[in-house]
Amino acid sequence: MRIAIVGGGVGGLVLALSLLDAGLADVHVFEASRRSAQVGVGINILPHAIRELTELGLLDELDRCAVRTGAVAYHNRFGQQIWCEPRGVSAGYHWPQLSIHRGELFGVLARAVDDRLGADRVHLATTIDDPTALAATFDVVVGCDGVHSAVRSWMYPDEGGPLWNGVTMWRGITTMQPFFDGRTMALAGVVDHRIVVYPIADLPDGRQLVNWVAEVRTDDARPMPRQDWDRRADVAEPLRHFDSFRFAWLDVPTMIAAASNVFIYPMVDRDALPSWCRENVVLLGDAAHPMYPIGSNGASQAIIDARILARELAVSPTIDEALSSYETLRSPATAAVVAANRHAGPEQCMEIVAERAPNGFTSLDDVITVRELEAIAARYRSVAGFDPAVLNERASWSVAAP
Ligand SMILES: Cc1cc2nc3c(=O)[nH]c(=O)nc-3n(C[C@H](O)[C@H](O)[C@H](O)COP(=O)(O)OP(=O)(O)OC[C@H]3O[C@@H](n4cnc5c(N)ncnc54)[C@H](O)[C@@H]3O)c2cc1C
Repeated sequence: MRIAIVGGGVGGLVLALSLLDAGLADVHVFEASRRSAQVGVGINILPHAIRELTELGLLDELDRCAVRTGAVAYHNRFGQQIWCEPRGVSAGYHWPQLSIHRGELFGVLARAVDDRLGADRVHLATTIDDPTALAATFDVVVGCDGVHSAVRSWMYPDEGGPLWNGVTMWRGITTMQPFFDGRTMALAGVVDHRIVVYPIADLPDGRQLVNWVAEVRTDDARPMPRQDWDRRADVAEPLRHFDSFRFAWLDVPTMIAAASNVFIYPMVDRDALPSWCRENVVLLGDAAHPMYPIGSNGASQAIIDARILARELAVSPTIDEALSSYETLRSPATAAVVAANRHAGPEQCMEIVAERAPNGFTSLDDVITVRELEAIAARYRSVAGFDPAVLNERASWSVAAP
């Protein structure tokens, strides 16, 4: 079976590795950029996706350049803690949650693809504007070409661009002393005005690379910022919104001011599609289901898509059945995550507390119960597919697994 992958991002590279793992070796990757151009900010990969990367033999290498996230802590805009839950192995998962520099993640994936598939199968600086010619020469074409997918526009020419919710995100990395235990992802504020911060690498001198995303609703008649992963912004832009974010555990303005580079991106997603397939062409990852970066799920869901699609192509009697079964398994599941993220996902606790106690609280118990907090967290884990009991118990998706 000849398979063409359009786009060599997280989804495309993990798909290439998964196809090989499933015994499908006639694979070509077409990637628009040169690899060195990968954007230099952080990303969080959740345990359900790390399980898949572990089964592909990548955990040791990832572990060498990532931070194992031990907890996620949610705060109000005064830095008061609302909820803190263990993550990764601390939460009983058999696999860690990793926070990592995007460049490092791409490096690990790209090296594995070059070693296992062969660098000659990865066609860099090759943009596919229309998959028709590939569809005629390959048995399957998979559009892994991200939020601006040309393959998706070819399938749905009238759809238009991604949908902006009015929130602008500035992202950066700051070299600094660890906050909390040096293993915690922290959020403070509400989706309209909030900071997300997590360490992505330990440095030899005890400091860390800390990734941050500063989010503000800025839709007061401003046009949507251009959607380029590597569009730079002046540090003064996010800084002016976060002057009051000075907490005992983190001085946000100092952290933002010390960032090496600042990137700007709008918070966008798209509505669910009626179908991900047209003939032998199919969508995967952000091309199929871009979602707000809430709950750290976009790349993790792309990784799961890749594993399921590879398995279905390897075990199904026909390609049509494989594509249809992949879509049945993944389309409703990812549509549910897109919808949950539109309602703040696991970060709903921050919205509720801000509504009930806009000026902060003396006792959190007067504002929200532990039961409510647990229910929000459990609901999202279940929707996004990373409930620890379910994940630990379910059979492997590797074709070769017993
Ligand atoms: C601020 C922010 C923070 C995020 N944080 C997280 C997080 O912590 N955890 C998480 O899981 N997700 C996160 N995400 C989402 C995550 O980045 C995406 O979901 C993920 O990158 C999707 O992977 P993909 O392979 O589908 O697409 P992409 O990573 O976008 O890759 C698409 C690839 O296709 C290539 N390409 C594009 N067009 C063409 C073409 N016509 N021909 C050939 N190649 C093409 C591109 O160059 C690119 O390499 C975040 C997103 C944002 C905006």
